[in-house]
Amino acid sequence: MRPTSALLSLVLLAAPACTHGTNVQAPLEPAERARLLARRVIIADGHVDVPYRLHEALGPDGAPTEDISQRTTGGDFDYPRAVEGGFDVAFMSIYIPAELQKSGGAKALADSLIDMMEKVARDAPDKFAMAPSVEVAERNSQAGKISFALGIENGAAIEDRLENLRHFQQRGVRYITLTHTEDNLISDSAASQGHGTWNGLSPFGKQVVAEMNRLGIMVDVAHLSDDAIRQAVDLSQLPVIASHSSCRQFTPGYPRNLPDELIRAIAARGGVVMINFGSSFLIPEVQVHNRQFDTVLQAYAKEHGLTKGSPEIKAFIDTYLRDHPIPLARVEDVANHIDHVVKLVGIDHVGLGSDFDGVGPSLPTGLKDVSQYPNLFRVLLERGYSETDIEKIASGNVFRVWRQVEAYAATSRSAAR
Ligand SMILES: [Zn+2]
Repeated sequence: MRPTSALLSLVLLAAPACTHGTNVQAPLEPAERARLLARRVIIADGHVDVPYRLHEALGPDGAPTEDISQRTTGGDFDYPRAVEGGFDVAFMSIYIPAELQKSGGAKALADSLIDMMEKVARDAPDKFAMAPSVEVAERNSQAGKISFALGIENGAAIEDRLENLRHFQQRGVRYITLTHTEDNLISDSAASQGHGTWNGLSPFGKQVVAEMNRLGIMVDVAHLSDDAIRQAVDLSQLPVIASHSSCRQFTPGYPRNLPDELIRAIAARGGVVMINFGSSFLIPEVQVHNRQFDTVLQAYAKEHGLTKGSPEIKAFIDTYLRDHPIPLARVEDVANHIDHVVKLVGIDHVGLGSDFDGVGPSLPTGLKDVSQYPNLFRVLLERGYSETDIEKIASGNVFRVWRQVEAYAATSRSAAR
């Protein structure tokens, strides 16, 4: 928080537009400055769940029923809203549900989601383009196109074969979140915090990290247990990202967020923490609400002998949530998390990982979809962040890591020749 800067902007705004008869322009209001800034800088978001949103609503012909090249009524991302928000690069999440670790089909699902996103880009070549490198992403932005970069959410997509890393690298995947809501063959999950299968990474997981370094795939530590994050950061020859994680400082006991110790460790190796916009990641009130809701729900189910998913339970949930809505964060809370990382480790280690289309109605007031990034920029400007700082947060920091990972892979390829 830098209150003096906010005061200064107010003073400047109150100043007369024209002095001594010269044509001095009035300083722009922060909202307008933010809008122009969002248009000028590249905004690269570490985690957007468009692929699974489309996958969950496929038509009988197997094609998505929503056309994100046009304005959509649902969801948080589409082309017109992306343009409004000055948005540029979405790391499209190739999300693999943990159930597939047992049932099989993880790799096939990942391939089908990549196929789908490539087709979405192919079908609207004037609006979208794939971005397998920073250079291509920058070129796409110059050409006025929104880039789809690819990140796999859940390393289960490689099943039990290291060779599949090369397959996905060749398909354009540029980061892999090692696991998701359950421990997998690679890593313990945040959900098993303190009592995981591997006490961090598995022996196979350690090989996976080394191979990802070699191939040019960024290591994403979002969703991992603290031990696994610590080990991945230590083991990786390159900086890691947390593609959609916020600060545990604001949400004590919430394992998906990063404690200060791990934010420091990630930054010390040059990595980036990309702040998640979901309210449960931002403010502690959501956890309190959810715990109360859980207690009440379980008591009701027990009293009436009801099972999960029954119509009575569904009706009870609807009524309860209508009477006790989930508390919502505000765009200022996202800025609070950014401030926290900046105070801890400086401006070079924070980014944006909205989780748009992944956290449903829990997005903060003022940051409900991709059209609203300028609201966040306005708050940051009001807090005294420079435009150069904001550019680092918007894309500069994650691009730095992405470039380092690309360069390292290029060197290991030429060394292997
Ligand atoms: Zn996630």
